[in-house]
Amino acid sequence: MDDKNTTARCANCPAEIGVPDNYGHGDVIRCGICGATNRILRGDVLRLVLSDVAPLKAALKNLQDRRERLEDELEGARGRLGIGVHGLYVGLAYVLYQVAFDAQTWSVGLIVWGLVIALAAAVALEVMNYLFLSKRQRMERLSDEIDELRKEESEARHKLREAGRR
Ligand SMILES: [Zn+2]
Repeated sequence: MDDKNTTARCANCPAEIGVPDNYGHGDVIRCGICGATNRILRGDVLRLVLSDVAPLKAALKNLQDRRERLEDELEGARGRLGIGVHGLYVGLAYVLYQVAFDAQTWSVGLIVWGLVIALAAAVALEVMNYLFLSKRQRMERLSDEIDELRKEESEARHKLREAGRR
């Protein structure tokens, strides 16, 4: 290992590839680990860039499609959350309206009915709270996955730019 310019990192995976001296600038060498074809750049330092960018372009397209699907899903989850909150308010308003305008006289029956409504509202709030929580967790998971895909996309774009070097 007296010459630092005899190995270079594969453009597709972390493997170090030994590049024999008889391989010149622009020659292609295959990675023994991942099988990617690397083009050799003999500049100030020995570097490898992808020789065949078609698989990387396909992978990038795939990443973009997956990210767009997840973004749609996230958008949909946000929309349904809004509808759920709206429904709860409408339901509460309806119950209050019924209680306010249909109660003519105080009676034991009315008080019991009021307690039943309060209990039902409490249960409903608990259920909504649970649904909000799981929905929020799902949205967070989607956001994380989208961020991860964005990172992979930018790495793929970087590799494609590198592959364009002469
Ligand atoms: Zn490799």
